[in-house]
Amino acid sequence: MFKGINAIQFSRKFVNNEVCYEYLMKKKWSKGYSCSWCGCTRSKKGRTCYHLRCKECGYDESVTANTVFHGIKMPIVKAFYMVFRLAAKKKGMSTVELGTEVGVQQKTAWLFKRKVQAVLKEGGKDKLTGAVDVDEMLVGGYSAGNKGRSLETKSAVMVCVEKLEDGKTGNVNFSELENFEAPAMKYAIKDMVEPAAHIQTDQHKSYESMKQEFDNFETLPSEKGSNFEQLHKQIMLFKNWLRGTHHKCSKKHLHAYMDEYKYRFNKRNMRKWLFNDLVGRLMHNAPHPYSVLKVLSVYST
Ligand SMILES: [Zn+2]
Repeated sequence: MFKGINAIQFSRKFVNNEVCYEYLMKKKWSKGYSCSWCGCTRSKKGRTCYHLRCKECGYDESVTANTVFHGIKMPIVKAFYMVFRLAAKKKGMSTVELGTEVGVQQKTAWLFKRKVQAVLKEGGKDKLTGAVDVDEMLVGGYSAGNKGRSLETKSAVMVCVEKLEDGKTGNVNFSELENFEAPAMKYAIKDMVEPAAHIQTDQHKSYESMKQEFDNFETLPSEKGSNFEQLHKQIMLFKNWLRGTHHKCSKKHLHAYMDEYKYRFNKRNMRKWLFNDLVGRLMHNAPHPYSVLKVLSVYST
């Protein structure tokens, strides 16, 4: 099976629902079949070409069962196109753009994108290591006259960035904070950064007070940001991406956008493999019950 794919290859390959289902068949069962009910590894032909029936218990399983593609409200070929666009486009897409381009209602695009975002979360679990710069930022509440550090409309976020030896940026990580007090910030750092990493922060009083909690923790004067260039670049990139691609982002969904940004940034050198990676992840995640998603009916693009 191919790994990398560009837009032309994609549009030539995934021309109809059948091709998409065949691709999923390979993803799901090419390494061997195992019945979801009884674990038996022997199967026979199922109800359609895209089902397999267990020889032991007779359970007839669809290729989309227990995957994010199950019960979607659009043809599979459109879902594939959405996954491809989300994976391939450098900055991602808002669900308004996505819905228009694929020809589905924005609500359908939004629901599906939420599921894709949910699996992106799993892609960013690795802790940062080596030299790591840490800072905090406020996100959201873009309206004029709303510039303070109030957490009513804005969200507090911890940002961690790996600095590589060649001067480049490694992986990034983000985490929402309850407030800017030392305990919340300390746990966020422990969550995102390996204990052995060399951590550098500015001289905010919360950082000064947590120094002894880490082996290798250094505070530096910010010098108007010049000591933390890569970190501040990331903060700017993230905020611009949020504003530019998604226009608005409610506090409730901020974590999903942070996961998406992290996934995109940390996998930036393997963009043409992302479609394959994403479909694989979508195949191994059980569907979110529609009823739960329906509760989240606050639209976010
Ligand atoms: Zn079985």
